[in-house]
Amino acid sequence: MIREVPKQSRDAAASKAASHVSQLEQELRDTLERYELIFKATNDILYDLNIQTGGVVWNSALYTQFGYTKYEPADTLEWWVEHIHPDDAMKVEHDLQHWLAGTGQTWQSEYRFRKASGAYAYIRDRGFVTRDDNGSPLRIIGSFLDISEQKKLERAKDEFISLVSHQLRTPLTVIRVYGEMFLSGFFGHLNGHQELHIARMTSASVKLIKLVDDILNVSRIELGDFKVTPMPVDINAIITEAIQEVAPIAAEKNVSITFRPGKKHLRPVIDQSIFLQILDNFLTNAVRYTRPSRGQIDVTFAEKQDEYILCVKDNGIGIPKNAQARIFDRFYRAANAINIEEQGTGLGLYLVTLMTRAVNGRVWFETRLNKGTAFYLAVPHEPEK
Ligand code: ADP
Repeated sequence: MIREVPKQSRDAAASKAASHVSQLEQELRDTLERYELIFKATNDILYDLNIQTGGVVWNSALYTQFGYTKYEPADTLEWWVEHIHPDDAMKVEHDLQHWLAGTGQTWQSEYRFRKASGAYAYIRDRGFVTRDDNGSPLRIIGSFLDISEQKKLERAKDEFISLVSHQLRTPLTVIRVYGEMFLSGFFGHLNGHQELHIARMTSASVKLIKLVDDILNVSRIELGDFKVTPMPVDINAIITEAIQEVAPIAAEKNVSITFRPGKKHLRPVIDQSIFLQILDNFLTNAVRYTRPSRGQIDVTFAEKQDEYILCVKDNGIGIPKNAQARIFDRFYRAANAINIEEQGTGLGLYLVTLMTRAVNGRVWFETRLNKGTAFYLAVPHEPEK
């Protein structure tokens, strides 16, 4: 039996449905408006590329940022491709085809794109593709970010590093080598006066080379041009080798260095070059900031729960209270250190902190004025953690 619905409730249902539809329409309008506003408001250039038709819709940032007028026929894929720098076009096209043929949804590429003025901007293009049920690409929505300034900085960094390493380091090395040849008597006998001055010149060039190396290292790490390669190392061998390297300067000051290897022969997985640089910094500081004679430096390397701890302990001048908070700052040197050792850059421990961060480690010290200082480095058992 069909029961007739009273007219009143039919009307009520229809009006409820109508109000639901109008609410949905309003929500849709709001959503569209929101997307339109985002499209207009963002500083990035946004695009919507229809892969089937090759049609492209850009937001107004293309015009405001790259100087094109609305009359530019920019709404095709051809126009886009024509504006890629000829040296980059092949690679971009190849990468794009490869990506579209796969199943990935996002892509990223950096290339040069021509502006209305004819100059090229470096852009980072990030796209998101939608595909049909067979995986064929339908549409790419993406953005251009102008990274020209960042690229300029990267170029300046490369030029700086090459300038410092070639133009400064190489001639300094020449000065050092000739100085050493003079001192060894290669060019004949030197009188006492000559020997003294050439020794000063040679030692100044060695210090300058060290400074150049520190600056180079700092800029490489700060600018991200720095690789960490952890490998199992024979820790006792490398600590012994590092101690031998500083032995001559320690002997000059009558400072002795002891390393007592633990019972267990450890083979931690660490970046050997970074570890050596940190250890060398601790050791040279320990020698430099210990008064001549009766100086004693102890080196230990121990395994703790989930990290290894290196410790270099001296019985030197210590670090005054007012300097302790700033000891890892770039170019900072405590007054008592400047008194005992004029030469120094204040870059060594800053470099240590950068390198320690790069290997997910920790660095700290314990000190007592005029009694001594112990510097610690902790590195995780698992370097990737
Ligand atoms: P530099 O030794 O060239 O001055 P560092 O960055 O290596 O630069 O060290 C910064 C400062 O830390 C030193 O100038 C000194 O004041 C202090 N310092 C470092 N190691 C020691 C140490 N073993 N004993 C006392 N002071 C130290």
